Formats: sequence, structure tokens, C-alpha cells
Amino acid sequence: MVEADTRKRYKRLINKLICFLIYYSGIYYILKSIFMENGIYIFFYHSILDTKKCKEAGELISLSSVDKKSFEQQIRYFKKKYTPVSMDEAHDLLRSNKPFNKKYVVITIDDGYKDNFIYGYDLFKKYKMSPTIFLTANNVDKSAYLWPDILRYLVYNTAKTSVKVDIYDIHYEVDFDTIYDRINFLDSIKEDIKKYNEEIKYEIIDYLSNLLDVKVKKDCDLMLNWDEVKKLNSIGVNFGAHTLNHPILSTLSAEDATDEIYGSKVLIEARTNKKVEHFAYPNGRDCDISEYCINEVKKYYKTAVTTTPGINKTGEDLMRLKRIGLAYDLNIIDLKVKILYFCIIDSINNLKKLKS
Ligand SMILES: [Zn+2]
Repeated sequence: MVEADTRKRYKRLINKLICFLIYYSGIYYILKSIFMENGIYIFFYHSILDTKKCKEAGELISLSSVDKKSFEQQIRYFKKKYTPVSMDEAHDLLRSNKPFNKKYVVITIDDGYKDNFIYGYDLFKKYKMSPTIFLTANNVDKSAYLWPDILRYLVYNTAKTSVKVDIYDIHYEVDFDTIYDRINFLDSIKEDIKKYNEEIKYEIIDYLSNLLDVKVKKDCDLMLNWDEVKKLNSIGVNFGAHTLNHPILSTLSAEDATDEIYGSKVLIEARTNKKVEHFAYPNGRDCDISEYCINEVKKYYKTAVTTTPGINKTGEDLMRLKRIGLAYDLNIIDLKVKILYFCIIDSINNLKKLKS
């Protein structure tokens, strides 16, 4: 495990070095002029954290969260270099079918964590941003943990120093010597659990709760409450739906998928008295979304966002909008190179589509 940590740290360092070289060698500007086209850039985040505080408290930081300072720097950068728009405005721009003459940015945040209010409220107000937060409606309504957060809680709080996991197709023998052992284990097992349906997912979580000998506390203070949702709404933050319970939609029956897609809209509208017109597919890759789901989403929403990276241009499918995921503590150079990297991937994907 120690070796794996060292490898991971080296990998991060090498990535940073590559970003630095690409940027300062001038290659960045050549590639940028070729691949960074005008259009709508939709970025997505999850939690916003004070990572310094978390580290001091010895807390496990989810790699999908963004550091509050980096987030502010990124917002400042987007305000300077892009034209910020809301999801509604992005929809109208895409519907108008006119070619884009500049780069627009939409900030989206998935799941509905309370830290979006704690750290986001002042930031969004200060920079006059109108991001869209996609709520996992039942988790917000019932103040309930999302399963990856239960998993993190179990792995972080276990007193066990080694475990042997043996359930379904999931097999591990792990020693928890350092905090990195826990992080690596969490990252791997989360991917393993994702592919199972909701029933099995929670069966595995129960199994792990027993195995790790940790009980999950019932009172969850991780998600936004409706009062915070309303306060954010009053400063221009919009709310979209991200299903009721965050399942992988393609694993559900037609009836269950419709419940998740339509039910989340109904619940959020009832609690906020605002129309909910934008949707984010959980996990959001092509394999997580079926044709049936897309048709259902189309009945109830104006747009839907995926996690396929790329730029949204004229003629984009409004039910499969592309997004670029941002997390952790990217500085502005890393950010610029990362966005460029996804623009190149998008161009390659578009070329492949044209050929087929
Ligand atoms: Zn999500």
C-alpha cells in the first residue's frame, strides 16, 4: 500500500509538471487556438470544502470535492475569461441555433451538499453567479446520507486495522496502516459497488457496516435543508433535479426510472414553489443512461446534463449536454490545461462520430 501511495503522489507531481511544461513552453497557446472553440462550457462540482481545516482535523477528504479557495480562484477566472450564464440562459442560447461568438460558462454542482450553502452562499453573492445545484431530492428531504458518504463514514471510523471483504464480486484483503490505505480502499470499493442495483448496494453497505463494526449515525448534517435551498435561491442560485435517490438510471426498471426522474421534479417544486426544468443524470456516463430514461427526461425537463466532457455548441442534444468535472485543489494553470485536455478529447470524439 505504501508503494501505491508513493506511486499516486508521483503521478500527481508528474501531472503538475506536465501542466507546467505544456503551459510555459507555449504548446498550450498553440493547442488552445486549435481546440478551444466558442460555445457553452458547463463545469460540475460536488462538495466545497475547507481542505486545510479537514486536514488539520485528520478528516478524509473526498477527491471529488473542491477546496473553497481554489473554487473562488476558479470563479474569479471564469468571470474574467468567460461569460457566465445560468442553465436557463444556456438553454435559450442553444435553442436559438445561432453560432456562438464567445465562450460561455455555466457552473453546476451535483448532489446538494450543505457545504454548497456554507461556503457557496457568500461566494455566489459576491461574484453574482447563478449556478445550478442538482439536488438528490429524497436525501435533501429526509436529511439522509448518500451511500458513498455512508461508505466513507464506515471506512474512516472503523477501529479495525485489517479487513477481508468477500461479497458478490467484491474481494479485498486490506491493511489500514495509513490514511492513504483507507483512501485507496474507498476509491476502489466505491467503483465496485456502483454497478449494483440499489437493493444490493445497501446490502453491501450493511455487510461492510458489520464487517468494519461501525454503526452509521442516523442524524445526517451533510445535505442542504429546504431553508438553505430557499436562501440560495433568493440570491440567484437555481435548482435542478438529480433523481430522488441517486441510482444509476440504466440499472432500474422503467417504472422505477420514471419515479426517480419525475418524482424528484415534483418533490423539489413542492418544497421550493419554483419550476424545476433542468436534470442531471447520476454518474452521467453513456452507460448510466438508457434511451428510455432520455425520453422520460425529455417529457419533464428543458435540458439534461451528463458527465461526458466537452464543449456544447450549436445543434447540441439538449438531453445530453456535456460537462467538465472539476475538483480538489487545481491552480489556474492546472485548470487551463485540464480544460484544454477535455477540449482535445471532445474534438477527437466528434471526429470519431463523423467517421462512423
Ligand atoms: Zn451525483
